[in-house]
Amino acid sequence: MSELQQVVSSLESASVTTPQVTIPFNKPFMTGHEVEYILRARANGHLSGDGPFTKACHRSLEKMTGSPKALLTHSCTAALEMAALLLNLQPGDEVIMPSFTFVSTANAFVLRGATPVFVDIRPDTLNVDENLIEAAISPRTKAICVVHYAGVSCEMDAILAVGARHGIAVIEDAAQGIMAAYKSRPLGGIGEMGALSFHETKNVIAGEGGALLVNSPALLERAEVIREKGTNRSKFFRGQVDKYTWVDLGSSFLPSELIAAFLAAQLEDAQAITSRRLDIWSKYHQWAEPLEKAGLLRRPVVPGHCTHNAHMYYVLLPDLEQRTAFLAEMRKAGIGAVFHYIPLHSSPAGRRLGKSSGELDVTASTSDRLVRLPLWLGVEEHLPYVFDVAEKALRDLG
Ligand SMILES: *Cc1c(COP(=O)(O)O)cnc(C)c1O
Repeated sequence: MSELQQVVSSLESASVTTPQVTIPFNKPFMTGHEVEYILRARANGHLSGDGPFTKACHRSLEKMTGSPKALLTHSCTAALEMAALLLNLQPGDEVIMPSFTFVSTANAFVLRGATPVFVDIRPDTLNVDENLIEAAISPRTKAICVVHYAGVSCEMDAILAVGARHGIAVIEDAAQGIMAAYKSRPLGGIGEMGALSFHETKNVIAGEGGALLVNSPALLERAEVIREKGTNRSKFFRGQVDKYTWVDLGSSFLPSELIAAFLAAQLEDAQAITSRRLDIWSKYHQWAEPLEKAGLLRRPVVPGHCTHNAHMYYVLLPDLEQRTAFLAEMRKAGIGAVFHYIPLHSSPAGRRLGKSSGELDVTASTSDRLVRLPLWLGVEEHLPYVFDVAEKALRDLG
């Protein structure tokens, strides 16, 4: 047997859960149609990008978000990189963003030579504090990149107003925001551009995958070029030019049709997936209410004008010491509870490549105290056990 065959046969017999952890932090949900759609893509004979499944996903995402143009990418990271290219960022330009986010929010812009300028978050939603953005603007500021943390919207009216006042683009890192809304406006469809993620840890998945939502029509033609290796291939396929050639910067940002087929099955069930997640989220929220009253934790805050998507259930513990002890108890009981993010402004690369605007105290404190609990379709049956273990650990610590 070749080494490759050995790997394949060992996968067949392996259990789906990691040894030790009996209730994993995440378990990718399959609707049941993914493999069938991949087989249909194979039968159709079009395996590279932009085939019928990709186009169906584009239409579905446009309908879902109200964006005039959705373009599948191989990740949200790639979509953010496309956004940075579309902004024509030059070395020394600045992009305002929270420090409490995933590295891709910053990296995409740093790759163009821009400097991330980190501002603090709100203590309630853990989203960028809209009241701190204006103070971070300089003559080099080219964009504000907001992150809708846990699928709860940032204060978009105030942020769009700052952007408009200073002629600065607003980009949405909506990696966690599919099917969520701000004042009935779907996330990702509000700023000049929005980026979605279909990574297996998100609500709607394709293993790896993403999409760029191009909401500003002026950017559309160049977005297609950048995604197609800097060629006008999309125009060629529409019959708008008689040959295609290299016209601009670009790269290969599109996923294969096999990924799009998988994603199509997920998008069909996006509403049902979201409802079930919201159900689980509510169970956590109810369970945590008396614990919050007892001062043992703080629950997530969802403002009334935000429709969230139950991307995450997190709690904030009183301090780092208690968080560390709590995670150890959860691990002992076989429950996958985790924390994130190490603030970007205090990370080795963030210190070298970015700068901070003001103190980032809420970011630092949140990063020390946050715990994410398992939230995936199927975790329902384990919730009584998770609640028991977590509650006992909290009461013993408190
Ligand atoms: C997951 C995530 C990303 C990256 O998404 P990929 O599809 O893995 O590239 C970026 N930003 C935020 C806020 C995320 O949660």
